Amino acid sequence: RKLVYTYDESDPEDVKLLGGKGAGLVLMYKQGLPVPPGITITTEACKLFYSNGERLPDGLMDEVREAMRWLEERTGRKFGDPRNPLLVSVRSGAPVSMPGMMDTVLNLGLNDDTLRGLIELTGNERFAYDAYRRFLQMFGSIVLGIDKKVFDDIFEEIKRERGAKYDSELSADDLKEVVRRFKEVLGDKFPQDPWKQLELAIMAVFRSWNSPRAVFYRKANNITPDVADGTAVNIVAMVFGNMGFDSGTGVLFTRDPATGENVLYGEFLPNAQGEDVVAGIRTPKSIEELKNERPDLYKQIYDMAKKLERVKKEVQDIEFTIERGKVFLLQTRNAKMTPLARVKTVVDMYEEGLVTKEEALARVKPEHIIGLLYPRLDESYLKKHGISPIAEGLNASPGAATGRVVFDADTAVEWRNRGERVILVREETRPDDVHGFYASEGILTSRGGMTSHASVVARAIGKPAVVGVEKIKIDYDKREFRVDGITVREGDVITIDGFTGKVYLGEIPTAKAELPREFFEILRMADEVRSLGVRANADTPEDAEIARRFGAEGIGLLRTERMFRRPERLSIFQQVIMARDSEERREAMNKLVPFLRNDFLEIFRVMEGLKVTVRLFDPPLHEFLPSSDELLEKLCEARMRGDSDEVSKLESLLRRVRELREANPMMGHRGVRVGVTYPEIYEAQVRAIVEAYLQLRKEGKDLQVQIMIPQVADYREIKYVKEKAIEPVFKEYGVRMPVGTMIEVVRACITADKIAKEADFFSFGTNDLTQGVFTFSRDDVENKFMHDYLEKGILDFDVFQSLDTEGVGELMRIAVEKGRAANPNLEIGICGEHGGDPKSIEFCHRIKLDYVSASAFRVPVARLAAAHAAL
Ligand code: ADP
Ligand code: MG
Ligand code: MG
Repeated sequence: RKLVYTYDESDPEDVKLLGGKGAGLVLMYKQGLPVPPGITITTEACKLFYSNGERLPDGLMDEVREAMRWLEERTGRKFGDPRNPLLVSVRSGAPVSMPGMMDTVLNLGLNDDTLRGLIELTGNERFAYDAYRRFLQMFGSIVLGIDKKVFDDIFEEIKRERGAKYDSELSADDLKEVVRRFKEVLGDKFPQDPWKQLELAIMAVFRSWNSPRAVFYRKANNITPDVADGTAVNIVAMVFGNMGFDSGTGVLFTRDPATGENVLYGEFLPNAQGEDVVAGIRTPKSIEELKNERPDLYKQIYDMAKKLERVKKEVQDIEFTIERGKVFLLQTRNAKMTPLARVKTVVDMYEEGLVTKEEALARVKPEHIIGLLYPRLDESYLKKHGISPIAEGLNASPGAATGRVVFDADTAVEWRNRGERVILVREETRPDDVHGFYASEGILTSRGGMTSHASVVARAIGKPAVVGVEKIKIDYDKREFRVDGITVREGDVITIDGFTGKVYLGEIPTAKAELPREFFEILRMADEVRSLGVRANADTPEDAEIARRFGAEGIGLLRTERMFRRPERLSIFQQVIMARDSEERREAMNKLVPFLRNDFLEIFRVMEGLKVTVRLFDPPLHEFLPSSDELLEKLCEARMRGDSDEVSKLESLLRRVRELREANPMMGHRGVRVGVTYPEIYEAQVRAIVEAYLQLRKEGKDLQVQIMIPQVADYREIKYVKEKAIEPVFKEYGVRMPVGTMIEVVRACITADKIAKEADFFSFGTNDLTQGVFTFSRDDVENKFMHDYLEKGILDFDVFQSLDTEGVGELMRIAVEKGRAANPNLEIGICGEHGGDPKSIEFCHRIKLDYVSASAFRVPVARLAAAHAAL
């Protein structure tokens, strides 16, 4: 098998074989751009090197010698020739970019003889010794494994002796002295034979593939062997940026990688070589300065940059060297950019006609969209002030937030109302805390995982959250938390970073990006491509407004529970729960209708013209009564006061609470089960919905309302509820609305054909469905065993975050198939947390759902992911 390729023999598309750097060089070469000629040893050879017990494959060096002849022809120099020496760099280059993780040796081929040749050839002694000392240092540290610091110390010492501030101030004689001392360090381990140098350098580059930092980098960036399994070695003829002040080396981006602005962005260091620019040994010039000083060179570089952009169709990150006024390109790769720059450049390149809509869309990732939606910490501020976090947890919900610490939701609201910004800090959160979420800038918990209550709610309403910061010990009584000897009291300012999971003391400035035009533009392009609809889960007019602004095509899930918890309503609803018979219940429920109607009306107004799916009452009733502990306490107090009215009221409340107690409330009397037992509740809800709808119509506005029944397991549940609670109201007001069901119970999936005959639409409730399929309690897995399951590889991912397509997904597929067969007009969507998860969205597209419904803040991500699924 051929293991070494010259540029003439290479295919620039073969990144896997040649590595990214090699393929890039070949591409530039074939485009007629000025790259020094080179040859590439393939990644296959690296694999053989390792399977061979870290020995070079047989015959490899013969192939290298053969290919080097091509290099010699192209350059008119000879490797090892003392009169006309060819020098090369030996460079690593994996199939995926691993910047700075592996090694490169420059100026290889120099020895005491060729050094003299180089001096004669160039007439530049200083340059030649500069090249030699660099080579000795790189060879010594990279190939022979001598600590780089030994060389740095010698170099600094000589600089000090000569009173030089910068390397460029050292004379030829000074550099001679450097070379002398470096050679002392190397001793006879340094081979004078260039071919031996080359062989050892190749092995060193192969070995750098498995250096600890490279291994760590691959692990951290999830670069698995199927993606990249070894580095190529590029042997490239040297060009010299260290030949004087008409030479130099630089890096540039073809567009600004921070803002995306279409201007060259980069730096250039005169009389320098290799990594000098990034190493910060002198202050480089900006490309702008080069433009003023050498417009001719700038123009050359500009034209090359734009040509590369046209060919690669992506913003490029380029290394270049100028040798005595001539520009050479040494590397090109796709640039890493901020989310803002990513989105802007993609849209710009589409508008410039450089990329198609599909190409543009494929390049924008969900994290870019997310990165734009939320404020970020100012990294440079952290660096400048050397600030490190006090603790770290899970990055549960993106965005950075600063505020005063508060320890409960009511305090959060109170402080907020007097104009404070607050961070809600809890061990964990519960539904009762949600008003505190809205009042806070962000949420911090010491327990829980990515699908804990705090995480789910924070993501849903777009608040930054860091959860599971176990090091933080909260003392609610003292109103403080402690971490590593630091005490943070209520009112102290902290900053949390929901992108990284880090927690900081004090205020860290955040950069809040205004959403740029390109953000909306790329989503508009996504809409043209996707077939899957995107709606939002929204319970409040505020949510609905956000959803609409972010392009939701309707509300896929309007939960109604909140309406019963709001002030004034709760006590009435408690009367409903306490009612002795149907008559009393209906009476109490009817008192709620005006409130509910108002709530519906507010949201309907926002969603004018769109579809709104209202889910009827879902949770267990006991959630709306005080806990028995609380009641007992109050009862005690009332007895002591001798308040007999209060006592008997509390006693009956307590009796009811005990009656409602269930062993497994989430599998208990909730959802349609409540609707069957107490149809009056659903009936009143439907009445409120219909009245709001009619009111809106009277105002000349219209929208489509759909009524959704939760927790259905059997079609007769729907039938019963329709007959008892829904149809009569429709009849009374002379309206019709589609009535459908959540599909969140395993049995509902299996009997979807029968259910579809009773339902106008399905909406998968994949949270409950996942709970049911795994028999995992979502509220408990996080703190108990999910971590173990992931760690031990029993699950590949958290199934409450991303759909288990194999199990849950298979049930969905069955339900879709049976449902559509029985009712061809059936509309099918999903409204679980998974509706905002890109991988799950792709699955929903595959099984041909009509839409996904995601929390308002995930709507942009869902639009993009739906487009990706359709590409
Ligand atoms: P990395 O992958 O870490 O960027 P490179 O192989 O690109 O390492 O090389 C390190 C530095 O040396 C870069 O600045 C590169 O431009 C420079 N360099 C590499 N080969 C040559 C060469 N043949 N002539 C001049 N400079 C080179
Ligand atoms: Mg490089
Ligand atoms: Mg549910």
